[in-house]
Amino acid sequence: MTRTAIPLPHLIGFTDRGGNWYAEEVPLAQLAKEFGTPLYVYSKKALTEAYQAYDRACIDATGKRRARIHYAMKANSNLAVIDCLRQLGSGFDLVSGGELARALAIGADPQSLVFAGVGKSADEIAQALKAGVKCINVESISELHKINRVAKELHCRAPISLRVNPDVDAQTHPYISTGLKGNKFGIAYHEVLKTYREAALLSQIDVVGIDCHIGSQITTTSPYLDAVDKVLDLVAQLKKEGIEIHHLDLGGGLGISYGAECPPDITEFTNALLNRVAERGFGYLDLVLEPGRSLVGNAGVLLTQVEYLKPGVEKNFCIVDAAMTELMRPALYEAYHGIVPVQTKAVENVTYDIVGPVCESGDWLGKDRSLAVEEGDLLAILSAGAYGFVMASNYNTRPKPAEIMVDGNKAFLIRAREKMVDLFANETVLPK
Ligand SMILES: *Cc1c(COP(=O)(O)O)cnc(C)c1O
Repeated sequence: MTRTAIPLPHLIGFTDRGGNWYAEEVPLAQLAKEFGTPLYVYSKKALTEAYQAYDRACIDATGKRRARIHYAMKANSNLAVIDCLRQLGSGFDLVSGGELARALAIGADPQSLVFAGVGKSADEIAQALKAGVKCINVESISELHKINRVAKELHCRAPISLRVNPDVDAQTHPYISTGLKGNKFGIAYHEVLKTYREAALLSQIDVVGIDCHIGSQITTTSPYLDAVDKVLDLVAQLKKEGIEIHHLDLGGGLGISYGAECPPDITEFTNALLNRVAERGFGYLDLVLEPGRSLVGNAGVLLTQVEYLKPGVEKNFCIVDAAMTELMRPALYEAYHGIVPVQTKAVENVTYDIVGPVCESGDWLGKDRSLAVEEGDLLAILSAGAYGFVMASNYNTRPKPAEIMVDGNKAFLIRAREKMVDLFANETVLPK
């Protein structure tokens, strides 16, 4: 089967100009030459425009802000990326103490930080409380008690929200669905009210919000509207019981087009959610959205060089210098990424599996792709801005690639390629 029928995603910041791919005003081939491959390249314009689309939709006709954006930095946590978003006005959704440290390193306002995650340690909770984050999103009764304990030790109060598992099917890949009752995430819908009642009685806990996050790479709005309705039902019930909720955090998860998908655009999606909340009479709540992928996914590509073309009996292999170690999504979710030659060549098209050098059969980046390439050519793996570098590993003792951000005609090295010696610098052999 060939997949030539799958269209390329609509990209901002990356263009094919007469057979040469560019990041904004810089040829990708030039970047590969200057910085080597594999190489992550991000477009500042692409991420800026995605952020601004969200931001515009968050402001109503009278100029009043209806919602705030807290970028889920696990999608791409490079300091330059998060600092660009901070400058545009974004807050952040964090899922670890490490991400909190990144947010503080760029000088993010602690009140623009929400701390999520299903398994926060006491240390991470303490770190968040000391930093003074806006809210800790709680995922279990045990966690609630742990937060209360840590806050008591620190003689402070803990602002919390409960993450509701609304039991809606986000119709996405099972590994990135999070809002079904079989998922590990959130507090079961029927236990949420009980847990809020319990939270209200704890000495150090301030109930401030309610949140949900139903999954990732979601391409329709309807599961969100179902989740909104179910969560608002809880807010109404809590109000009756005298438990006042101030903010409603609807999570992230809006999908992007990797090729064949047609997700709603950011404006349409955001309006649908915010309008539903307003129609139901909850427009007074502070709303929070936590997009990750939809801000950065199509703002990045992974450049790689063809090492070998290996004709096979059943398959032809195009062996490149990037692998599952740089982009794990195909190996992990059988995810599709568009792959294009950086420079058009007048050679015959051949159908290849594009694979990396790692010793795993799961190490592939694209299957059954018709490409006109020769050894030494460059390929761009598209839509690699989200869940790309952040999932990179050193498996097979491979140094992590460099990252570049392009802004107009300038290219900035925003993370140096790892050096081989650094990979085992923390290891020691046993004494003689
Ligand atoms: C991962 C995550 C997000 C962002 O998801 P995307 O699919 O990248 O938009 C938002 N909120 C929480 C709690 C998450 O875990």
